[in-house]
Amino acid sequence: MKKEMICIVCPVGCHLEIDDDLKVTGNQCKRGEVYAKEEVTNPTRVLTTTVAIKSDITRRLSVKSEKPIPKEKLFEAMAILNRVWKEAPVDLHEIIVENIADTKVNILSTRRISK
Ligand code: SF4
Repeated sequence: MKKEMICIVCPVGCHLEIDDDLKVTGNQCKRGEVYAKEEVTNPTRVLTTTVAIKSDITRRLSVKSEKPIPKEKLFEAMAILNRVWKEAPVDLHEIIVENIADTKVNILSTRRISK
């Protein structure tokens, strides 16, 4: 049975189809083929969210996974991040959580907060 999906690798957004033999159609480039195969066999996403921070200027710190993590781990990762409470100062790209949910991927800050 064929699965349909929109390629999210670039803004073109090709409409992809992949069959049970992992044959991909609808892609305008090789990256779409790779994306469709990964989406079927091991879907991953970059996690972007915020965590609580004690600071003079904000109460939320934006963070991001340094690499995509398996989709099945996103919920567990979010639960961990919901319990994080940092205190300023925080550097840009500082590790906020190491090896989140045993994915071997770190969560990094995406901004610097000095106080
Ligand atoms: S298949 Fe290639 S051109 Fe089409 S959306 Fe994906 S990356 Fe972009």
